[in-house]
Amino acid sequence: MSARPPPEKALRPRFWETVKLDQMRQAEWEALCDGCGKCCLNKLEDADTGEIAFTAVSCRLLDTESCQCGNYAIRKQLVPECVVLTPKTLPEIAYWLPRTCAYRRLHEGRGLAGWHPLLSGDPETVHDAGVSVRGLAIPEFAVTEDEWEDYIIDEVP
Ligand code: SF4
Ligand code: SF4
Repeated sequence: MSARPPPEKALRPRFWETVKLDQMRQAEWEALCDGCGKCCLNKLEDADTGEIAFTAVSCRLLDTESCQCGNYAIRKQLVPECVVLTPKTLPEIAYWLPRTCAYRRLHEGRGLAGWHPLLSGDPETVHDAGVSVRGLAIPEFAVTEDEWEDYIIDEVP
């Protein structure tokens, strides 16, 4: 018999449809991430227009196969520029998150996509749908910063 998780760690049924972002439990908030890895791609900002472009070059801590952070617990210590997404920071940074990002989708009232693991029950569906960085991301250590411009991709924030 398996123990039931304590209530604060439990995901309420279809919580993404019924609970406001700033009222979600920590476990629910974390479960919203679809594991696409797109927010871990390095971005370039046009100094004149403020336009942001994604590159295929990924953060040095990203595992480009699993699309997971290599050390999520202490990521901020290892990569100080990593942006930590919280209900408080989301409204300020949603504009540069990829349009497929579950946090951005819910922030904009668009709901989760059908390939989201919370709906499919399978973490692979985000990769099968072609919306993750698997097969796309190039580790940061393989490319110099001067070359990032050559790796701009179509992903529109
Ligand atoms: S873009 Fe959004 S859904 Fe994708 S890994 Fe980042 S936070 Fe998670
Ligand atoms: S530190 Fe981890 S979560 Fe932050 S950008 Fe890098 S791979 Fe992504």
